[in-house]
Amino acid sequence: MHPPSDPRPLIEVEDLARDYPLGEVVVPALRGVSLAIRRGEFVAIMGPSGSGKSTFMNLLGCLDRPTAGRYRLDGEDVTGLDPDRLAALRNQTLGFVFQSFNLLPRASAQENVELPLLYAGVKAAERQRRALEQLDRVGLADKAGNLPAQLSGGQQQRVAIARALVNTPALILADEPTGALDTRTSLELMALFQALNAAGITLVLVTHEHDIAAFARRVLGFRDGRLVEDRPLAAPRRAAELL
Ligand code: ADP
Repeated sequence: MHPPSDPRPLIEVEDLARDYPLGEVVVPALRGVSLAIRRGEFVAIMGPSGSGKSTFMNLLGCLDRPTAGRYRLDGEDVTGLDPDRLAALRNQTLGFVFQSFNLLPRASAQENVELPLLYAGVKAAERQRRALEQLDRVGLADKAGNLPAQLSGGQQQRVAIARALVNTPALILADEPTGALDTRTSLELMALFQALNAAGITLVLVTHEHDIAAFARRVLGFRDGRLVEDRPLAAPRRAAELL
């Protein structure tokens, strides 16, 4: 049912470390993490508050630079890239989904989905076509003209997922995407993520809920800035069957 994973690593990190200077002291938020994630994987990152999950996601998302170590994204060493190239790489290679949706309140669902294409310089007609295609993919074809406030939380998160997909990124990074949603809506979202993953999209998702991590195919555990667990899930739960 699932396409076989492409053996080329999409993400390769080696001894990745990030220290935050805090007054006179230095907080070692990440203390040397090494791992690889292949195309087609669905990875959940778990760990207590303060264990370094957000720091790691910010590095994966090229939103921050490591203090030490190496990060290769899609074969390119991103550690030494200048800010313009990093921004371009983010726009072309990555899609982001956040706990709080992060939609523009005065823009319609369609306009929100078009945003990454606007930044990429895509022309209006093509932007519209691709935005509507992705809204359809997440089940919101009939809500394209709605403002975020005219949508439920689950629908807003679907718009955010369509926005993350619109640039056909190699990887989607989702930070607590179900954190603001009720149980049933969370299940619907996880069913959507599983369907996207079955279609070949690589997903890395941070969650503090075991029930949510159980839908992934691999779980990484962080503690005190270190990777302390890396476990494949042989038979992940299927969210669509629980709805
Ligand atoms: P998590 O996402 O698992 O809750 P974080 O990556 O946010 O963990 O934080 C890891 C550690 O780094 C924590 O001790 C946190 O207090 C510290 N930290 C995070 N961001 C900063 C910052 N900007 N300045 C100083 N310390 C930070």
